[in-house]
Amino acid sequence: MPVTHLDSLDKIVSLSKSRGFIFQSSEVYGGLSAVYDYGPLGVELKRNIQSAWWKAMTQVHDNIVGVDAAIFMHPKVWEASGHVEGFNDPMIDDKQSKKRYRADMLIEQHILKLRDKGDDEKADELQQQLNTTGTRKGLCEDLYDIIMTEEIRSPDSGAFDWTEVRQFNLMFKTHYGAVTKDEDDVIYLRPETAQGIFVNYKNVLDTARVQVPFGIAQIGKAFRNEVVARQFVFRMREFEQMEMQYFVEPGTDEEEYDKWLQARLNWHKSMGIRPDNLRIAPHPKDKLAHYARAAADIQYKYPIGWQEVEGIHNRSDFDLSQHQEYSGKKMEYFDQKLQKRYIPYVVETSVGLDRTVLMVLCDAYREEEVDGDSRTVLKLHPKLAPTKAGIFPLIKKEPLQELARKIETDLKEEYTVLYDESGSIGKRYRRQDEAGTPFCVTVDFDGLDDNTVTIRYRDDMKQDRVSADKITDVIRDEIKSWSVK
Ligand code: ATP
Repeated sequence: MPVTHLDSLDKIVSLSKSRGFIFQSSEVYGGLSAVYDYGPLGVELKRNIQSAWWKAMTQVHDNIVGVDAAIFMHPKVWEASGHVEGFNDPMIDDKQSKKRYRADMLIEQHILKLRDKGDDEKADELQQQLNTTGTRKGLCEDLYDIIMTEEIRSPDSGAFDWTEVRQFNLMFKTHYGAVTKDEDDVIYLRPETAQGIFVNYKNVLDTARVQVPFGIAQIGKAFRNEVVARQFVFRMREFEQMEMQYFVEPGTDEEEYDKWLQARLNWHKSMGIRPDNLRIAPHPKDKLAHYARAAADIQYKYPIGWQEVEGIHNRSDFDLSQHQEYSGKKMEYFDQKLQKRYIPYVVETSVGLDRTVLMVLCDAYREEEVDGDSRTVLKLHPKLAPTKAGIFPLIKKEPLQELARKIETDLKEEYTVLYDESGSIGKRYRRQDEAGTPFCVTVDFDGLDDNTVTIRYRDDMKQDRVSADKITDVIRDEIKSWSVK
């Protein structure tokens, strides 16, 4: 059975729109770039991923608890975290087209072009240069020098007419309260959810009866005014993160970091992602932030190349120490067992929910030839599928409709299902294949006497005849035993 894999995001973008997974924000007004809305199928998929993550963090670990912090936070938080000073991307403008680019990304693209041309030696040399582009201070000058020396042209206009490289802060700023608009009222939309966890660390310690090591998990929106955001939900200006900060005794951090890195890779596999499309990419030691003791990306092989879906970081005691200094409040923990005080180290797992949705969609997408015909199918893990079963009367006639409605009512107790009686049965199967629905239940005249129905499986299109009373059990067993093929 021939299978087509994706070489760009185009098919996912168009399926997302046509089937109601993801729409561009404010589309009727021409859209708002890098902001997206989830449609009826998309919101179910997203919620199923959220629930799977939440369960993997809080439900199965008795030492991980959740919080849901507000998006607005005291402005001092972002001074303490270093975001006001350093959450920047280096940008450069093409003076002719007035388009803005990320200087480091321009160089990355140039390196890829060199590789395509077979000039690996030059590509390696530039990559090395890029990896060692000095301190944050000298970064702009270093990147500008590379762009000038290599005569890198603008991808859109082809011009070689650049501004200087400047740092651009990615935080969205607004004014808080209705009185005046001066610098005192400035407030930021949070660029990450993590700080909401750090500033609640003491509250959780005091109320949740947890002891180091323990974790705090959170799912929520984050906002970044990304310089370049043209890759669908991969890079958005408003997106969602699922983060867990694990507070550990200093000295145990390396072991915990290794453990979480593996645990998180396994979680991605448990979402039905093909293992060959996942890898761990450790950050080189000389690229780590000054406080970071280790960091790695979990990368997925998106149609746009290997890219980060999750970051795992050993952040030392940096964040809690900063908040201790800026707030004047003690962040120490008294370890009863060891009879000593310390500021815990933090191992962080930070995954983008929207990037996970995109990964899940890309990995599930198949085009297959079936008896000279073609079908598009999303082979989603059934536990993530937005609709678990389609329920069809073979034709629009009683008593088939009545029995189908009854099955729908029974299944609804446990699953999201869809009743559909319009169009040929083949068309109805195809519609559900595209929506990723793993099971279709068809009620026909043959089954009326012995109360049986046909269950059709999305992945191999096989059909079984089962008792109508057993469908819930069959679906439950199938979800449990499903594995990616
Ligand atoms: P990148 O290098 O791709 O910009 P990052 O290293 O800045 O990502 P983190 O700050 O580690 O990302 O954020 C954790 C996770 O949040 C990322 O792994 C990613 O899944 C998600 N994320 C970050 N920025 C965006 C964005 N603009 N749109 C969608 N998801 C994002």
